[in-house]
Amino acid sequence: PLPRVAWIGLGVMGSPMAENLLRAGYPVTGYTLEQHKLDRLAAHGGVPAPSAAEAARNADVIVTMLPADADVTAVAHGPDGILDRARPGALLIDMSTVAPGTAVALAAAGAEHGLRVLDAPVSGGEAGAVEGSLSVMAGGRAEDVEAARPLFEVLGGTVVHCGPHGAGQTVKAANQLIVAAGLQACAEAVVLLERSGVDVDAALDVIGGGLAASAVLTRKRRNFLDRDFTPGFRIDLHHKDMGIVTAAAREARLTLPLAELAARLIAEARERGDGGLDHSALLRGVERAAAS
Ligand code: NAD
Repeated sequence: PLPRVAWIGLGVMGSPMAENLLRAGYPVTGYTLEQHKLDRLAAHGGVPAPSAAEAARNADVIVTMLPADADVTAVAHGPDGILDRARPGALLIDMSTVAPGTAVALAAAGAEHGLRVLDAPVSGGEAGAVEGSLSVMAGGRAEDVEAARPLFEVLGGTVVHCGPHGAGQTVKAANQLIVAAGLQACAEAVVLLERSGVDVDAALDVIGGGLAASAVLTRKRRNFLDRDFTPGFRIDLHHKDMGIVTAAAREARLTLPLAELAARLIAEARERGDGGLDHSALLRGVERAAAS
């Protein structure tokens, strides 16, 4: 039989990911803060639990897909935390994007409770979660990654073991640096094309056939052109990720000018009150600068 999965965190990403596991035949018990997301899980054949610890109690595999470091730590530790309640020998997979150090600390705490732990953040956005085409960046022991591979392959099209605990998160930080810089470049190009009076759709078609073709441009094209900034991936979450990127750069004793600039532009978008919008809303900053 397929392993029993506990899924903690049924947000933009977690809900469609858990639904893909249900479709593939995995029994899934879930917990999240919003009742309507628990109802949605039940409608797809999953079992809502009254708490994270209750969801984790009988699971073979526990997946967390939570916003940030503090959420993962809170759900793991504490009297009603999953570390205390999970079955020894269970596999705990944190698929949230957190700092590499948080992943290393979770692996150590898990080991004290007899749990096997992986960090396995993803890239591909909501569309990738729905399609089951995410990139899964795994950190931890090779045998644990192999044990989780069938589950990862339901969720993603590219599954790579990146190295020891935390390595998946380091790769995800690099990924987020590229996405941030790419979004800003694409937003600037779109506004430049529009203001220059060329046919923007034709322009983006031909750009997409050359060296500047990018997943960011393809996936965010409609958001940019329609000024539809419904998340998607919230600016607030990308701000959290740029904090991880800049800390990693400091630790590696590197100066990364583009990472610093992208982090600043994302922080400014947040200060403007755009934190709840999709990160393609960086375009609003370009337009604002053009107006002033
Ligand atoms: P989200 O805010 O939509 O969902 C987070 C979910 O976690 C919510 O449903 C919330 O109820 C739940 N939650 C928060 N605290 C909880 C707690 N204490 N106990 C139980 N549930 C709790 O976020 P998201 O967009 O799904 O992102 C989740 C993670 O994946 C983040 O780390 C994000 O950086 C990363 N990520 C997001 C995307 C994207 O495109 N949205 C892509 C790749 C990675």
